[in-house]
Amino acid sequence: MKIPYLSFEYQHNLMKEELKTACEQVIDSNWFIMGDSLKDFEEKYAKVSNTAQAVGVANGLDALILSLKALNIGAGDEVIVPANTYIASWLAVSAVGATPVPVEPDIRTYNIDVNKIESKITAKTKAILPVHLYGLPCKMDTIMEIAKKHKLYVVEDNAQSHLATHNGQITGSFGDLNATSFYPGKNLGALGDAGAVTGDNEELMDLVKVLRNYGSEKKYYNQVKGINSRLDEMQAAFLAVKLKYIAQLTDQRKEIAKRYDKGLSNIDGLILPYVNEGATHVYHIYLVRTVKRDELMQFLQDAGISPFIHYPLPPHLQEAYKEFEYKIGDFPLTEEIANTCLSIPLYPGLTDDEIDYIIQSVKSFFYKN
Ligand SMILES: *Cc1c(COP(=O)(O)O)cnc(C)c1O
Repeated sequence: MKIPYLSFEYQHNLMKEELKTACEQVIDSNWFIMGDSLKDFEEKYAKVSNTAQAVGVANGLDALILSLKALNIGAGDEVIVPANTYIASWLAVSAVGATPVPVEPDIRTYNIDVNKIESKITAKTKAILPVHLYGLPCKMDTIMEIAKKHKLYVVEDNAQSHLATHNGQITGSFGDLNATSFYPGKNLGALGDAGAVTGDNEELMDLVKVLRNYGSEKKYYNQVKGINSRLDEMQAAFLAVKLKYIAQLTDQRKEIAKRYDKGLSNIDGLILPYVNEGATHVYHIYLVRTVKRDELMQFLQDAGISPFIHYPLPPHLQEAYKEFEYKIGDFPLTEEIANTCLSIPLYPGLTDDEIDYIIQSVKSFFYKN
């Protein structure tokens, strides 16, 4: 059996005619940037996110950068980030000239350890940037309390966690401004690059709107130095179609995870995803851990299964961040995750037979070794 890490075939077959119609409507509209499709998607996404507004932008990294810019975070400022994250969360902080200050994860949830945040706060700290990694929400109640106590902004990175909730509240609605990505492989993905900022503060959201379009509200009149990071009409129209299916597709992700949880339980040496109390996991990634990671990966590949590693080298050890002179051992939990993690295929459309084949393959690896 051949099983890819990710396939869009099933979900796109569900909505192919609607996607084609959306494409045709955009072509016939004769309008491709900042039009009705964008406005329509922004309204719908704000509703889903339970925020007053959503602003479409070009991608998830820009959504983070624009959020930080709108909060006037820049040179000389520090932003608390998870040590264990995709590098985009750090790059956004660097892009505005601020310094990312990493905090180790909770080794069970893999998200930022809320007990280690306060010791990293200095007079220069302006914001906390929690990332709901792999689809599991951070402990947002504690993070919001810490932010309030120290008068810090919160910018959620919601790229991997569309529709996840913490104590019943949807992620992407806690922070002052929140960023998300609609990169094709994300739970809610466009057919190209796309992203959004969500939030309730009208003034801040209006500033994001202006910043994404050259700092201009009225064409050819520029109030601030913005960038070009618009979400085009075609992607907005596709996203409006895909948004109708996101709840159903997320439920399917959870069902697949449940089958993995059951099938892979009680294997000595294999750690499964942990879901803390109050959180709903939307399984952008089903991440398991084992000290025999490389061997398991090879074994699965030989069986026709394509697992993935999220992520093999943490941001602090990347050449891009050599300026900080971090070395191996500086963030041991983050490094342990990088060295032991493996993501097994999980996408809507994965059949029970395929899931069972993956479970059987993992089991035979552990029972043979
Ligand atoms: C994908 C991702 C981003 C960046 O999104 P792009 O649309 O690729 O720019 C940021 N943060 C996290 C956690 C991501 O997974």
